[in-house]
Amino acid sequence: MDTSLVILISVLVVSLISFVGAMTLVLRKKQMENALIFLVSFSAGSCFGGAFIHLFPEAIEEGGAEVVGFAIIGILVFFVMEKFLFWQHCHKPGCHEHTFAYMNLVGDGIHNFIDGMVIAASYLASTQLGVASTIAIVLHEIPQEIGDFAVLIKGGFATSKALLVNFLTALMAVVGALVTFFVLPSFEGQLAPLLAFAAGGFIYIAGTDLVPELHKEVGTKKSVGIFISLVLGVILIWLLRFVE
Ligand SMILES: [Zn+2]
Ligand SMILES: [Zn+2]
Repeated sequence: MDTSLVILISVLVVSLISFVGAMTLVLRKKQMENALIFLVSFSAGSCFGGAFIHLFPEAIEEGGAEVVGFAIIGILVFFVMEKFLFWQHCHKPGCHEHTFAYMNLVGDGIHNFIDGMVIAASYLASTQLGVASTIAIVLHEIPQEIGDFAVLIKGGFATSKALLVNFLTALMAVVGALVTFFVLPSFEGQLAPLLAFAAGGFIYIAGTDLVPELHKEVGTKKSVGIFISLVLGVILIWLLRFVE
């Protein structure tokens, strides 16, 4: 299949995940949190795996070892996005839920744009890398989009409007992928730094968004389950290395 078509299908699947937010309407909160924690853990494993097993090796192969430093830029970009968002949320006079909902949409849109870039860049490197990145993104987007939807509802959006605007911001992934697919080939040698940047983003998301959630859970049985999910997430991504 044509690479551009595969990229398009992948980002469309990622965008459609925005609708899982609607699950919050049917499932009870406790029920959902119980199931979600294992997904969050699995997703953290897949993000770490995506970064260390696929993105870094490919980036180094394409651009040499120094290129790994670009991961720091990925970490910083995600940090700034989140920092700005929370600063708005907590410390600005007159900032309330509604403003936060709009701020979250902006942050969400930028995040999804970057996800789209990462998917396109990964497929431009290899199909295997493209699939690995898409899986890691799909997995972390499920809890992410449920959270986005909840923020919008809390910010006073009606259900249908919340679903629509969340989907529209999710479509930024398609925009990010298209821009990358058409622009990147004219910047020769920029694929490797972009892959390292993506690895930094994955490490940031897994380490600061996902793992802290896992520590909120207590109890031996659940903790063991969480750890196993984390390892399974890594294994799934690692197994992709053997798929041609
Ligand atoms: Zn994402
Ligand atoms: Zn969203």
